[in-house]
Amino acid sequence: MSTAASVVLGTVLRCGPVARSTIARTSGLSPAAVTRSCAALTELGLLVEVPQAVPYQGVGRPHVPVDIDTSRHVVAGIHVAHPFSTLALADLRGRVLLRRTVPHADPDDPREVLTTAADELLRVHADRFPAHIPIGLGVAAGGWVDPRDGVIVRHASLGWRDVEVAALLTARTGLPVRVDSHARALARAEQLFGAANGRESLLHLFVGNVVDAAFVTAGAAHRGPRSAAGDVAHLALGDPDVQCRCGKRGCLEATVSDQAWAARAHRESVISRPYVFDLVDDAVAGSPAAGAHLVDRARAVGRAAAVLFDFLDPEVLVVTELGTNRLPGCAAALRDEVTAMSRASADAVLTSSFGEDVLAVAACAVQLDALYSDPLNIRNPVWQGV
Ligand SMILES: [Zn+2]
Repeated sequence: MSTAASVVLGTVLRCGPVARSTIARTSGLSPAAVTRSCAALTELGLLVEVPQAVPYQGVGRPHVPVDIDTSRHVVAGIHVAHPFSTLALADLRGRVLLRRTVPHADPDDPREVLTTAADELLRVHADRFPAHIPIGLGVAAGGWVDPRDGVIVRHASLGWRDVEVAALLTARTGLPVRVDSHARALARAEQLFGAANGRESLLHLFVGNVVDAAFVTAGAAHRGPRSAAGDVAHLALGDPDVQCRCGKRGCLEATVSDQAWAARAHRESVISRPYVFDLVDDAVAGSPAAGAHLVDRARAVGRAAAVLFDFLDPEVLVVTELGTNRLPGCAAALRDEVTAMSRASADAVLTSSFGEDVLAVAACAVQLDALYSDPLNIRNPVWQGV
């Protein structure tokens, strides 16, 4: 029943509004199983009938289509980055309803950072969307995150170790809390809500202050026994002249991370402060030097992505990175580099589907992935905040 419900909800997400008969045909489930799942999902407020969507002009029982009910629930999300957290609320189609950035008062105090963010998010929910039931809270971060125990094991740029996020925030908010790496969460978000919709396998490379990868196959991200899969930060895929804080040279993160690339641009007098947002804003405003600098980064990222692509042979590669997110020239440079250096075809190389919402989507996708994987688990009273 649980698997059937997951298949039905996923089909409605991709095809809705859609008739039950079509769900049965495209999913391979029996009409009876589809009817049972639709009834259970409707009762939970996850599906809704939309009689007006398809005009009925026949005899017999009309095929009333069903769609995802986005009017009843929201998911809450907190993305923890180096200088700030992003708070978000999203509907069940992964659309961001609200996004807010809060700077860390004391980045060395994870408890303070997380509880401040959660308290603010609950306030915003009560203020703006009081009628929408929060299904749960997702927390996403870069680095090594263990979703089984809800722990940020290691976040290098923040210096956090073994932070028990789920236990802390469940106690604080009363909501079910799930925690995952933002690279894995975004990989699933691309499959569920993005341009990789319906693709079986996907490689995601996230380039921010932390550089992480994720590999998704058959609808689930590979985690590994220690949940450490996707740690590409110190692979020797970067510039061999760059010294990394780990002691080695040529590490990918030390070469292409936001901080590293902004520092390089600052050293070369392209920007007056070593801030990556300055570099991107200048490039968007038309500065040729800033634009060329970001194209260089897109190529460096592309060379690393090409190696990972040939190793894993996914259907698609998605790269999340500020320059390729904002500048078509960077996206083109990335695509050129990956296709020149690997077996990937041009249509297999995608940039993030989520634009400036990307960190908000990452956080909310941690909960939405769980919902679409096992929707009937929402029956658990804990999920309803009771
Ligand atoms: Zn290193």
